[in-house]
Amino acid sequence: MKYVLITGGVVSGLGKGVTASSIGVVLQACGLRVTSIKIDPYLNTDAGTMSPFEHGEVFVLDDGGEVDLDLGNYERFLDVTLTKDNNITTGKIYQSVLDKERKGDYLGKTVQVVPHITDAIKDWIESVALIPVDGREGPADVCVIELGGTVGDIESMPFIEALRQLSFSVGQDNFCLIHVSLIPVLGVVGEQKTKPTQHSVRELRALGLTPHLLACRSAQPLLDNTKAKLSQFCHVEAANILNIHDVPNIWHVPLLLRNQNAHHSILKQLNLLSIAAPPDLEAWTRRAETYDNLTDSVRIAMVGKYVGLTDSYLSVVKALLHACIACSLKPSIDWIAASDLEDDTAQSAPEAHAAAWKSLRNAECVLVPGGFGDRGVCGMILAAKYARENNVPYLGICLGMQISVIEYARSVLGLEKANSHEFDEDTPNPVVIFMPEGSRTHMGSTMRLGSRRTLFQTPDCVTSELYCNPHYVDERHRHRYEVNPDVIGVLEEAGLKFVGKDETGKRMEVLELPGHPFYVGVQFHPEFKSRPGKPSALFLGLILSARGKLEAYLTRHQNGS
Ligand code: GLN
Repeated sequence: MKYVLITGGVVSGLGKGVTASSIGVVLQACGLRVTSIKIDPYLNTDAGTMSPFEHGEVFVLDDGGEVDLDLGNYERFLDVTLTKDNNITTGKIYQSVLDKERKGDYLGKTVQVVPHITDAIKDWIESVALIPVDGREGPADVCVIELGGTVGDIESMPFIEALRQLSFSVGQDNFCLIHVSLIPVLGVVGEQKTKPTQHSVRELRALGLTPHLLACRSAQPLLDNTKAKLSQFCHVEAANILNIHDVPNIWHVPLLLRNQNAHHSILKQLNLLSIAAPPDLEAWTRRAETYDNLTDSVRIAMVGKYVGLTDSYLSVVKALLHACIACSLKPSIDWIAASDLEDDTAQSAPEAHAAAWKSLRNAECVLVPGGFGDRGVCGMILAAKYARENNVPYLGICLGMQISVIEYARSVLGLEKANSHEFDEDTPNPVVIFMPEGSRTHMGSTMRLGSRRTLFQTPDCVTSELYCNPHYVDERHRHRYEVNPDVIGVLEEAGLKFVGKDETGKRMEVLELPGHPFYVGVQFHPEFKSRPGKPSALFLGLILSARGKLEAYLTRHQNGS
């Protein structure tokens, strides 16, 4: 196994994840098989209990892992399916060591950070790197490891030490370290400053790691003398100093790296030049350019709770982008804080209320994404009602599906107090209820998580047509509540159709409203499996419908063209 380690210096938020995934893409384009590991030095066992406000979206894997959103970038860029073990955290490492200690596996020894924690890290990396993630048999050729945080952080020290030992034990030819750093520009003359990078490389060296390449983030391309300085003071060959300057969209990053021959430097370090092919990035080039040249925008209203930080819905945004590009459209997302749509806001903040409604009315389609807790729920219900009554295409994801059930029960069945047990324990009409297998006391990993099968109840529903499968689809889940099976009969009689159910037939997965141009609610999260070039079926349906092109698309598809 060959390892490419990506570390970061100077500041956080440098786009290390995108750099690491792009390096993976370039290596893949050279014909190599690539897997990846993300290390998050925080103490949380996984991202499951972390707030999207603070940390961005919780990404969900096929195996039910709730992981850092960078794993989403890897899956999308490399088109792979990762496992929960591909995300290592301090919490997971300590838990495994403490479990062994309690079992007496350390035979009376004093259990210490070095060597026990560092050994656990090394063992974890070496075994996870071998898991095939691209649907083929046998391990990948290269494992890209991204170390979260910034070099010098106290909490990443055990990882740095473990990686130092790993670099030594796997040998020179099998280890390539790329340090991502920032080159700021200061002063009126606009000089590109190398000192912060020099310092962070020095810090890395003091910890026993030597960077083979530098990936320098900057607003403008690096000047030759900046590169020369970096090479001289950081002791890195000039050819190995890569520059990731700002680009119009992130799909340019692999192209930027290829243009600077990053693959050559990495392959040389890993002694792979003889088996690798020249990089073929034709599809990436086409996509990046198409994206740049889109002019016709489609207006999408995203009605959610965490609209302040767009990373909170990163995969939804990416899935919209993939679908829009397939339709030669540019996504124009209007973020609407659901609570701004509520009647109370009309009193307390009339301007915000008016602006929210203006955006909603202006939108060509409406999306209510997943979420937890009751904030903004009334606003989401109003958005679903608006979309349903005005024939505006609507996609409700997870919470968004539960919202449409509550809305339908209230408006159409006349059950004014209909609600989810999540928001009102005492509702007389619980149309969404707690799932029996969940836990009320433990938050982490206690939801219905990961890939589950949905069986289509009829082959002629829009959802199955969009998925091009009359029978079933496998999508990822993350929820604690579900539609109450006892109310399905009345809701269906009143017109709402549950066209997708789980294998027991008791759990509702997909609802549709016949007669509406596109009104779909799904208990699963289709956004997690969307890929550039392979848009998620339901997102495509939403966008096509926003432009009145859904029917023509489906007819064309049925005719096999
Ligand atoms: N809060 C809802 C539940 O737990 C929806 C979850 C979600 O949207 N991911 O079922």
